[in-house]
Amino acid sequence: MTEFEIISNYFSYSFPLRPDVILGVGDDAAICTVPAGMQLALAIDTLVEGVHFPSTTAPEDIGYKALAVNLSDMAAMGATPAWMTLALTCPNANDQWLAKFSQGLQELAQAAQVSLIGGDTTRGPLTITVQIAGFIPTNSTLQRRGAQPGDGIYVTGQLGDAGLGLACTRGQIHLPPEAQRYVESRLNRPTPRWQEGQALRGIASSAIDISDGLAADLGHILQQSGVGASVFVEDLPLSKVLRTYLSKETAWNLALSAGDDYELCFTVPPNRESMLQRALPVGTYTHVGIIEQMLGLRCVFKDRREFPIEKGGYQHF
Ligand code: ADP
Ligand code: MG
Repeated sequence: MTEFEIISNYFSYSFPLRPDVILGVGDDAAICTVPAGMQLALAIDTLVEGVHFPSTTAPEDIGYKALAVNLSDMAAMGATPAWMTLALTCPNANDQWLAKFSQGLQELAQAAQVSLIGGDTTRGPLTITVQIAGFIPTNSTLQRRGAQPGDGIYVTGQLGDAGLGLACTRGQIHLPPEAQRYVESRLNRPTPRWQEGQALRGIASSAIDISDGLAADLGHILQQSGVGASVFVEDLPLSKVLRTYLSKETAWNLALSAGDDYELCFTVPPNRESMLQRALPVGTYTHVGIIEQMLGLRCVFKDRREFPIEKGGYQHF
């Protein structure tokens, strides 16, 4: 297959078509129309084999995750995802691999109604970069800054499954097959919360997506907002698998610092709590802490004893 055959076979059709895409794949650049009254949100994320996913990861999961991590960034800004470009570097033109990769990418693109409008295809060590663009009504973006003392701290979904999934994949821990499948699917197919992010416009005072662990990512909110926080470990939302197979301490450590969960962490002022209850269904989010004036993050039990966290989030350098 030539580079052009790869593009036309796997990255041209079967992705959602949107009326705001004037020119998609096939020209020197894509041309799109931003709706009136909207601002453009742009984000980019790269997945490198061996760094962001083990080389045993299924190609359809790699395709899915390459978009999922970008949709998660849109979620954190409260943006509505619209378009993506794909820079794909792979060691060879493997027909089966490309078909499955493209299928995984398409699956999530259909769910989020994101058009693939262009990209770049090169040979080299397996590396996937997706750049995403989305819309936000002018001046209504969620940001990392904006949290105030007294605001509640919330997270969507459940935390720590992806970290346990990675430990399983690496053979560091062994679970019954069904439990292992569950946590590995949480690692390989996270559920980006872009609908929740949009619903939180005008309600959340700050937001971030959890890619490096709650402690590290909430830390960014605290730093950019110039505040501190207490997080109550007993309130952290944990899946049945974590509650069944791990000690509480291990589960809390995974939830706080393993990362790769791609849930949202956001803060809400007390006078907007009723708006929050109307915006998101009960059970889809959990109150885990409170923003405070005193700088720093304190992970505590209900009686305020400190919980010793084991390690910080993942850092590349
Ligand atoms: P150029 O030489 O002008 O950079 P390319 O030959 O790299 O163009 O790409 C040809 C067309 O195919 C462009 O429209 C580009 O956006 C698109 N394209 C290339 N690779 C991909 C890909 N992996 N996914 C989607 N579109 C791609
Ligand atoms: Mg090119």
